[in-house]
Amino acid sequence: MKKSTEQTRAAFKRASKVMPFGVSSNFRYWGEDTPVISRAKGAYVYDVDENRYIDYRLAFGPIILGHADERVNQRIVASIENGVLFAHTHLLEIDVAERMVRMCPGLDMVRFANSGTEATMHALRVARAYTNREKYIKFEGGYHGFYDYALFSTAYTAGGSIGSRRSPIAVQNSSGIPRALGDLVYIVPYNDFEILEQTVRAKWGEIAAVLVEPIAGNMTSILPEKGWLEHIRKLCDEYGIVMIMDEVKTGFRIARGGAMEYFGVKGDLMTYAKSLANGYPLAAFGGKREIMSVIEPGRVAQGGTYCGNGVGTAAAIATLDILENTNALDVIAQRGKRLMDGIHTVLMEAEIDHALTGVPSMFSFVLGVEQAPKEYRDVINADLDLYEHIQVGMRARGIEYELDGKEPWFLCESHSENDIDETLFALRDTLKEMRK
Ligand code: PMP
Repeated sequence: MKKSTEQTRAAFKRASKVMPFGVSSNFRYWGEDTPVISRAKGAYVYDVDENRYIDYRLAFGPIILGHADERVNQRIVASIENGVLFAHTHLLEIDVAERMVRMCPGLDMVRFANSGTEATMHALRVARAYTNREKYIKFEGGYHGFYDYALFSTAYTAGGSIGSRRSPIAVQNSSGIPRALGDLVYIVPYNDFEILEQTVRAKWGEIAAVLVEPIAGNMTSILPEKGWLEHIRKLCDEYGIVMIMDEVKTGFRIARGGAMEYFGVKGDLMTYAKSLANGYPLAAFGGKREIMSVIEPGRVAQGGTYCGNGVGTAAAIATLDILENTNALDVIAQRGKRLMDGIHTVLMEAEIDHALTGVPSMFSFVLGVEQAPKEYRDVINADLDLYEHIQVGMRARGIEYELDGKEPWFLCESHSENDIDETLFALRDTLKEMRK
C-alpha cells in the first residue's frame, strides 16, 4: 500500500520554484503532498510516480465521460486541422448553441465564454444592464468563480466571521478585492425562505439578480429544500429580479437539461461550463431571449478572444452528442447510487455519524452530523478533520477525491462496477486501520 512518491515530490519542488505554491489554482494546493499528475485515462489519474488513482475528483467536475475520451479527442483532432480561432462566428459554435437550446429548457439564446468564472461574471453584467440595478443576492457558502464581485462569503469563510443568521456579513475571501464591492452583495443563508423574502421585499429596487446554485456543490452538495427554487422564482418574478441559475456544476451532469430539467424550475439566465465539454475549456451563459438581447455592440459588453474557440466547441459537440443520445447519464446515476448506498453502509458499520447529500452523479458524505446540511452554517459543524483523515487513507489505497470535505464526489461514464467495489473495499479497509 505504501506508494512511492519520490518523483512526485521532486516535480512539486520544481513547480514551487516557478509557480506560487506550485499550483495554477489555489484549490489544488494540498501542502507538501500536493500531487503532480502525468496522465489520465477513463476513470483513472496517474501521478508522476505512475501510481494509479480511481478519480472521483474529475478535475472538479468537468470529466463527465472519462479522461481522454477517444470520441471527444477524435472530434477535436478532425476540427483543429481547420484552425481553432477566427475572430468570426464559426459553424461549430452555432452547432453547440443549437444543441444547448434543444437540451436545456428555458434557454433561448447563449453566448460562449471560457470558464465558469467568466460565464457567471457576464451573466451578472447582463442582469445589471437589463434591470438597471447594481446589487445582487448571493447565498452564504456558495461559490461562483474567482472574480471580485463573487468572492464573498464562500465556503472558505471562517465560521466566526459570518455574523448572525438574520444579518449575515458579506465576508471578503481574499485580499486584493476592493472593499467597496462588499456593498454590492447581499448575503442570505441558503434554503432560508424567510430571510430571502425579507431581503427582497426591503431592497428589491437595488437588486439586479439572485445568483443561485441549484445544488450547492461547494458546500457539501446541499440540495434545495422542497419549494426553495420555486420560492426564488416567484420572488424574482414579483420584483423584476433576474434569477441566475449557476449550472456550472449541475449542467449536463445531473440531467441532460441540468437542474432546470431535474427540478423543473427555469432561471432567467443560466451559466454552464464543466460537463459541457468533458474537460476542454468552454463555458456559456444564456437564457431568455428578452434578457440576452440586451447584449449589443457598443451598449452592453460581452466577448473575449477565445470565446467559442474551436477546440472547446468541437469537444462540446462530441460530449453533448453522447449525453443527448446515449444512456451515459443513466449509467452514471446508477453507479453513483450504488456508491452512495455503499458508503452509507460502510459508515453505519463503523458507527460514524454521517449524512449523504446531493445526487448520485455529484454527492457528498458529511461526517459528524445527524442530518444533511441545509445551509453553510450547518456545514461548519461537520467533522471536516475526520473527513480529511479518511481521505488520506483512501488516497494511499488509490482512491482520489477532494481533501476538502465540502467539495463533492463526481462520477463519470468510465467508472465501472469494479471501480465502485474497489472504492468501497478501500473505505472499509481505511476505517478498519483507523480503528486500530
Ligand atoms: N460556479 C460554480 C457553481 C462552480 O462550481 C465553479 C467552479 N468550481 C465556478 C462557478 C467557476 O468556474 P471556473 O472554475 O471554471 O471558473
